[in-house]
Amino acid sequence: MYNIAFVGAPGSGKGTQAAAIARKLNILHIATGDLFRQAAGRGDELGNKVRSYLEKGELVPDDITIGLVKGQLAASGSKGAVLDGFPRNIRQAEALDEALDGQVLDRVVYIRVSEVELTRRLSRRRVCRECQATYMAGEGETAAPLCRRCGGRLERRADDGPETVRKRYAVYMAETTPLIGYYAARGKLAEVDGQGSIDEVNGRIMAALGRQETLT
Ligand code: ADP
Ligand code: ZN
Repeated sequence: MYNIAFVGAPGSGKGTQAAAIARKLNILHIATGDLFRQAAGRGDELGNKVRSYLEKGELVPDDITIGLVKGQLAASGSKGAVLDGFPRNIRQAEALDEALDGQVLDRVVYIRVSEVELTRRLSRRRVCRECQATYMAGEGETAAPLCRRCGGRLERRADDGPETVRKRYAVYMAETTPLIGYYAARGKLAEVDGQGSIDEVNGRIMAALGRQETLT
């Protein structure tokens, strides 16, 4: 059993890397952002509430978020999980220990990327509206090409506009970066340079986790 959490700024690549690591280790990938986007798409009362936070680039309130993660963990069985986007503040970190219900959080991977690079990545990110595959738009590209996987239309994520990106980054700095010291003090932090290709960063994460396998 193995539980890992990913911490990183918006655009750090934690979603891509968390999915790859979960696949490799054959454990559940719990991505709070994805779950919230699904909820927002459902358009029920909870979904509408969640959407209002996503659109502003603010954190969804802790009670909703912690309840969601608890439910996911309870359903994950005993193999462990990769937490992607949770915890995002100290209160969530404390709630996680309780939610793990006797299991431990083994490692926290912190993916470090410069602010310039984050801004560049988010402004170019395009997501397939059908299958959620992520792409990088080419320099100066206007007409969006279609998804290579399913032919769906590619769009900018609703919260990737410049203003919301600035807000998300400010929230990350204020709320989430304290977790770096928090987990370092508990001997759980694995800090990884997030610049470079997806494969390069994969390799660094596997090395930091003390795993020999390479991701393909
Ligand atoms: P990013 O890390 O690039 O901002 P995510 O998909 O992880 O992208 O998160 C998108 C949004 O989902 C956040 O801006 C926030 O509104 C919400 N969210 C995700 N995880 C959490 C969390 N642990 N606590 C509160 N809100 C969250
Ligand atoms: Zn697609």
